[in-house]
Amino acid sequence: MKPDRVLPLFAAVPPSVERAIERAGNRVATPRPYRVDAAAQALHARLFVADLHADTLLSACDPRVASADGHVDLPRLRAGNVKLQVFSIVTNMPLCVRHARCGEASDLVAALIAAQRWPRATWHSYHARALYQAEKLRTVAADPSAGLVLLRTREALARLLAQPLESRPIGAVLAAEGAQAVGDDVAGVDRLADAGVRLLGLAHFFDNAVAGSAHGRRAGGITSFGWEVLRRARARGMIVDPAHVSPEAIAQYVAGADATPFVVSHTGLRATCDTGRNLSDVQVREIVRAGGVIGIGAWHGALRTPRRASAAGYATRIVRTIQTAVALAEQERPGHGDEHVALGSDFDGWVKVGFDASGWPLLTEALMRAGVAEDAIARIMGGNVCRLLLRGLPGDAAP
Ligand SMILES: [Zn+2]
Repeated sequence: MKPDRVLPLFAAVPPSVERAIERAGNRVATPRPYRVDAAAQALHARLFVADLHADTLLSACDPRVASADGHVDLPRLRAGNVKLQVFSIVTNMPLCVRHARCGEASDLVAALIAAQRWPRATWHSYHARALYQAEKLRTVAADPSAGLVLLRTREALARLLAQPLESRPIGAVLAAEGAQAVGDDVAGVDRLADAGVRLLGLAHFFDNAVAGSAHGRRAGGITSFGWEVLRRARARGMIVDPAHVSPEAIAQYVAGADATPFVVSHTGLRATCDTGRNLSDVQVREIVRAGGVIGIGAWHGALRTPRRASAAGYATRIVRTIQTAVALAEQERPGHGDEHVALGSDFDGWVKVGFDASGWPLLTEALMRAGVAEDAIARIMGGNVCRLLLRGLPGDAAP
């Protein structure tokens, strides 16, 4: 897409049309409200629910306002008892979302941000797009009536956890989906860290200067610039996220991983849905051996749900994927497999899901029906993310 020639056309798109396009991109199989039995509701209300991945910052909707569109807003997070949401920053996505064959020039994000009238600087720069989305979330968090706290440090999370459950604000963590957000210079890592970004993805739909993508043309490994970015990200207390990266880059990352906490924020498994984007059994075991936490996705492409599956059908499929991940993790760490599995919905990521963010009680109910023990449900639904962030986020005194 030639920004100067084509994007002004998108900038003329009326907001109602932009919203309709977003609605078509972010579908839900069953609209809310979602009902679960009393036992599931009671357990769900006691859980610390955390989701490792939602692309809500790409939407024109104000997340403070309840909406019927998309998958996430703050009222829906509260209805779903979500206590911590990772908001990911998307800087490039191909117009043909399923695969990157149509090339980096066909940039859905560019079209969206022009239609949403983002500043011109964001039209030409992935880094500027990232900083702009970080600012969007900071603006929401700065509104005292929003009930959202941007978590930059482990102490901030500890303070949040010390508040009574009923009156606790939602904790938000910022993530960059793909290190093209860094720009051409390692100093971009510092600017992202200063803006509040705490999770750093290596690649998204395209190979970039840091790492190959699972969807990429070359799908190579981590570059020398990539290792430089990784060192800087770790020095700034960022948690690395190799979701979306090529098999070669995952293998290299895992082989070089020290004890630093990391996540694969949103994924499916080849064992239950065999696509190149999902993790193989061997990859799951390698990630677990290196201490990683794997966020299981809630979207169709990660689960291969039947075409007409309902919200409950999606929940059943997510549980099956979770149980498969736990069983694979058990092979590496007997007795501790459920410590490596979490939720990574991909809500608002231009995907079809079974339920929106208010529907997480359905998953608690489905886990109970599958016979998963209460303490394991608590770990999977958010306890593992909480523990990882308490270790992985920088301290108040960090640079
Ligand atoms: Zn993604």
